[in-house]
Amino acid sequence: MRIARDLATLRAATARLGPRETLAVVPTMGALHAGHVSLIQAARQAGATAVVASIFVNPLQFAANEDLARYPRDETGDLAALQAAGCDLAWLPTPAAMYPPGHATGIEVVGPPTEGWEGDARPGHFRGVATVCAKLFLQTGAGMAMFGEKDWQQLQVVTRMAADLDIPVRVIPCPTVREADGLAMSSRNRFLGPEARAKAPALIAAMRAAAARIAAGEAHAAVLADAAAALTGQGFGMDYLALVEPATLQPAPPSARRGRMVAAARLAGVRLLDNIPVPESNT
Ligand code: AMP
Repeated sequence: MRIARDLATLRAATARLGPRETLAVVPTMGALHAGHVSLIQAARQAGATAVVASIFVNPLQFAANEDLARYPRDETGDLAALQAAGCDLAWLPTPAAMYPPGHATGIEVVGPPTEGWEGDARPGHFRGVATVCAKLFLQTGAGMAMFGEKDWQQLQVVTRMAADLDIPVRVIPCPTVREADGLAMSSRNRFLGPEARAKAPALIAAMRAAAARIAAGEAHAAVLADAAAALTGQGFGMDYLALVEPATLQPAPPSARRGRMVAAARLAGVRLLDNIPVPESNT
């Protein structure tokens, strides 16, 4: 596996990796887990002949009050994981390589799907995500980009951005990888203490139970209000729990029995994010 830390090295390395159409990029912020590795495997399954994974903790997508300084970093472990997963090229730009002095351009997806949910909870977040992903697509020249469904709204924002800017990249959604007890894998899970870690799967359990009730015909507003109240009672700080239209993230109409259920909750200082299709078998 080659490692590039500046744009000239990246460009020289990607030029040797074959045609754009079958070159896949896997953007990450590092602290890699099995969810990230699944994106590399998914790239191969989707026909990629070469995979470039980026590791970049993008300062642009963190608000001033967020956990940029505390975000987990493990370059040695990450490079070993990428190598073991069969990644061809690791792109590890420094902040100055990504945003040289004078950098002044941002990409902003306006309106749906950035409105609401993470867009409200994290002002400026999707502008940072769209900007860095546009740059990663253009820097690598990849024709395929693998994104986890774990970050559902991000997946929709990036898909919209690539289409709107006519970037010749297929954004390919990949299923959420979960721990055995259902908790969606996340780099931030390592900050859960033993008690919070034991409690965390209650979020997905409540979501699955609610999805079954909605699919069976109960009104989603009432079902989700019940579920949110129960989770609050267990110590979760609920940011949102809602049924939305999958591509636009707009709230589902009151009679809807299908859509995407999205949730964000704080538990012992860790923000948990999850989503599932409704009905659940609808993946
Ligand atoms: P991150 O490093 O958290 O920015 O995530 C990098 C990529 O990995 C994004 O496309 C995420 O959606 C994806 N990802 C993160 N966690 C998971 C997971 N548990 N299952 C599948 N993909 C994931």
